[in-house]
Amino acid sequence: MARYHGEAPFSADSRGLHTMRAVSYAAYAEPPAMVDVADPTCPPDGVVVRVGATGVCRSDWHAWLGHDPVPLPMVPGHELAGTVASVGPQVTRWHVGDRVTVPFACGCGSCAWCAQGDMQVCPQQTQPGFTGWGSFAELVAIHAADTNLVTLPRSLGFVEAASLGCRFATAYRAVVLQGRVSPGEWLAVHGCGGVGLSAVMIGAALGAHVVALDIADAALDTARELGAAVTLRTTGLAPADIAAAVVEATGGGPHASMDALGSGPTLAASVLSLRPRGRHLQVGLVLADGGMATVPVARAIARELEFLGVHGMSARDYPSMLAFIESSAIDVRRLVGRVIGLEDAPAALMAMSEPAASSGMTVVELGR
Ligand SMILES: [Zn+2]
Ligand SMILES: [Zn+2]
Repeated sequence: MARYHGEAPFSADSRGLHTMRAVSYAAYAEPPAMVDVADPTCPPDGVVVRVGATGVCRSDWHAWLGHDPVPLPMVPGHELAGTVASVGPQVTRWHVGDRVTVPFACGCGSCAWCAQGDMQVCPQQTQPGFTGWGSFAELVAIHAADTNLVTLPRSLGFVEAASLGCRFATAYRAVVLQGRVSPGEWLAVHGCGGVGLSAVMIGAALGAHVVALDIADAALDTARELGAAVTLRTTGLAPADIAAAVVEATGGGPHASMDALGSGPTLAASVLSLRPRGRHLQVGLVLADGGMATVPVARAIARELEFLGVHGMSARDYPSMLAFIESSAIDVRRLVGRVIGLEDAPAALMAMSEPAASSGMTVVELGR
């Protein structure tokens, strides 16, 4: 499969092709650079999107450092919104000029999982910035456009839309679709980074009571501003102690609980806190130890707990998410910290190696 269109990325001019500006790295941990590269080729079943805005995400940082191997050289970026610039001959639903966004995991469009709308688990999925060049560029190719593109409502700008595609959509799938959290229930959120804070907003907007946990006071302050009813600082506490504090705060344990960080201790604290028949939501990527972690299985059996993985969200579920944002008056702009130009994207990516100065996400806006 031609997922990767990088055969001669640094010498496009000499071949007389159109070129674009992009941020690229040729080796892991090498500083990413602004380069001129050939415009992406439009896949027969896909489109090329002119990027309006693209988010800077910790997943891009993991790929850049080689924690999550990608083909090199790579152009990062998977949280994008923009305008359709060209359309492949097999595409029926999209036209040049359409304002669109895409999930970070794009389905192949032809397998059984895609047929039932579960593109987020398609075995042949493509991911901009990981399986092929991403959206830290003026243009990005998207495969299987009829399966993966989402229309942006006029009310949503590119910067706001780019802030939804990864952390917010994943949190929505976790809380609403996998977690089935309903009004009046307790939801615990372990880890208040981007996806955790999105889950706090969504849980509060649903009418659930949210208990937010983190080691940083600043993150907990933000969680409270975004609607958390209770916040707990977990610095230095063992999983069993964290679970006991959550049980006490929620009068018997939450109905649903999310590990938004992705570690053995946060996973264990989340599972151990749940009330009988509770739902554990695993959102944070466990990258250490080959993705293996210990689950308190005896507790899961005794209380009939559910363990639910969450891997982004397919295009099928975007309309309900966008309607939810509209009807609940969630201010998605609250998730955005800094808006920068493409030339500042390399520094923003590298800055993720330092402890975060603020919990807001950085969004790259093109053509400012
Ligand atoms: Zn598929
Ligand atoms: Zn992301």
